[in-house]
Order: sequence, then C-alpha cells, then structure tokens
Amino acid sequence: MNNTISELIKKISTANNIYIASHVNPDGDSIGSILAMALGLRKINKNVNIIKTDEIPSDYLFLPNIHMIRTYDIDEEKDPIDLLVVLDCGDIDRLGKFKSIVSNSKFVINIDHHISNSGFGDINIVDEQSAATGELVFDLLVGMGIQIDKEIATCLYTAISTDTGSFSYDNVTSRTHEIVVSLINAGIDKSDINIRLYQSRSIERTNLFISSFSTLKTYNDNKIATVKVTQDMLKKANAKMEDTEGIISFIRDIKPVEVACLLKENKEKEIKISLRSKRFVDVSKICSAFNGGGHKRASGCTINESINDAERLIVEQIIKMWWLCEWRY
Ligand code: 5GP
Ligand code: MN
Repeated sequence: MNNTISELIKKISTANNIYIASHVNPDGDSIGSILAMALGLRKINKNVNIIKTDEIPSDYLFLPNIHMIRTYDIDEEKDPIDLLVVLDCGDIDRLGKFKSIVSNSKFVINIDHHISNSGFGDINIVDEQSAATGELVFDLLVGMGIQIDKEIATCLYTAISTDTGSFSYDNVTSRTHEIVVSLINAGIDKSDINIRLYQSRSIERTNLFISSFSTLKTYNDNKIATVKVTQDMLKKANAKMEDTEGIISFIRDIKPVEVACLLKENKEKEIKISLRSKRFVDVSKICSAFNGGGHKRASGCTINESINDAERLIVEQIIKMWWLCEWRY
C-alpha cells in the first residue's frame, strides 16, 4: 500500500467526527461517492456528517440513506472541523458557499479524478485515470477492510455508471469492470438502478428537451453544436434546471458532432456551460479559459454574460481550440 493511502487510513482511524462534502450542481458520482464513503465509515463506528452543498436532483433520491445528506450551519460551528473529506471536487470554488469549510478544517482529504484538480487538501488522492470518484472510494473502503454491502454498492454503482455514460466512455478501464463485478456480487439490483437512472424521464423533462432541441445551432460542418435552456423555457415546460440532465449527451450523440455545448441560463447574466466531446477535443482546456474545468471529454464553466453573448464567446473559444487539436478524420 502506498504511503498516501496508509496516511489517509491512519487519519481516518484516529478521527471521530468526520465531515464529507462534494460539489454544487451534484451529479451521480458526487452523490453516490459521498453516500458510499459515509456508509462505509459508519460501519467502522465513525460519526459522519454529509454536508448538503446544493439541492439533490430528484434522479438520485432513491439512493439508500439519502437523508444523511443534510444542511449544516457550518458558520455557527465554533470549533474547526477535525477532518473534512472532499470528494469529486476539482477545486474549492466547486463547494459554492461552503468553500470556507476547507480553511476552517484542521485536516482536509481531497479525493478526486479531475485532471484539473488544484490539490487543495492536506492529503490529495487525485487519479485522473479513474473513471469516477466512486472507483477511488471503492478502493479506499476495501483498503480499510470495510465490507462493501448492498447499500454501499448501490451508491458506488450509481457513481460509476453515471460518470461513464453507462460504461460507454473511453474513461472506462478493465479496473472499472472489475469493481463493478464486486458491486454486482454485493447483491445490487442492477435492473432497478438502471430503470431509475435512465428510464424515468418525466413529461416535464421531455417537454424541456423538445424546446431545448429547437434551439440547436451547428458550426464547422456540424462538428460543433450548441443548445440553450433559458428561464423562460423552464417556466413553459414546468421543469427545473436539473431536468437538463441528458440534453447534452443527446446533442453529442449526433453523428458529425465532435463538441456539444449546452448553455443554461441560471440568471440573466449567469450562464452555466457544459461541454462534451467525442473523440479528440480536450474540452477541459476550453473551459479553463473561463475559470472552469473538468475532464477531457466532459467539462463546465460559468460565463457572466447574456446567453447569446456567452454562446458567441464559448463558440469562439471552441473554434480556437479546434485548430490546436490533433485531427484524424
Ligand atoms: P457538467 O457539464 O455535467 O456540469 O460537468 C462536467 C464535468 O465538468 C464534471 O466533472 C464537473 O465536475 C466539471 N465541471 C463543471 N463545471 C465546472 C466548473 O465550473 N469548474 C470546474 N473546475 N469543473 C467543472
Ligand atoms: Mn466525477
């Protein structure tokens, strides 16, 4: 076992009160990973608290013990947190209004798989070869001798499946499949999880998809595609921003598209951007031009302009990056 892992295990075994947190706009990997970590540590009699940094999308409310993720008024905590474990978080800004907990904690463990991770922890376990943070959590729990039970396995399967496009992206390795073998052997109901994650789209979400797809624009011989979701569209579809889940992959899946871009109007001049690529373009580099980041094939950033200006700026940046990439068409 390498030194970092044994140091981490020592740190966890001597801490009693542990806080766990992940990023705003939570996804399946962040929620699945924090829950699995918390359930695992609870099995070895640790007092664990999961900080709710943002609303939990309804897609994940089926996960076991989801109620463990709750609001804490950290500012009112007089004593600094002894041990904070941050999962799936590329930098502290991703903790949103909770980012000050990092400096208010005596010791921080940063566990992540983002290429752009800033290394903000006292211990950093950052492995961009891992398809999901859930893979790292699996290895740590097993390394600590904690048995992966059905509940933990359900959370980890959700984490890994959602971050790999149901095991289809090129971040999937043989290790990913080996871990999934263990999760299936732990007794998960794979079919139920898959139906809940991928075959449960509401009518409201479907209507939002329809209006968003009607905003499709393409550039560079259909190799770049953008779609938008405005506040007005949400209102008309009676949908929430979390209902955008699935839009960008649909756009990326258009045959000639290499880079897909979704622009979400959080507020009038606060546009959250998601980028996806298929084969060649490193979209994390495009997003880092706007202080964002992520992975080569999936990244995000925020642009504080109107949605049309944000679209122009991001498309300019994508086209700029286009010529820097190696093209093998
Ligand atoms: P999504 O497009 O689904 O919001 O995010 C795609 C990937 O990019 C995720 O791994 C997410 O953590 C990362 N990401 C999204 N937005 C940001 C951002 O503003 N900053 C950074 N550093 N990463 C982001
Ligand atoms: Mn992740």
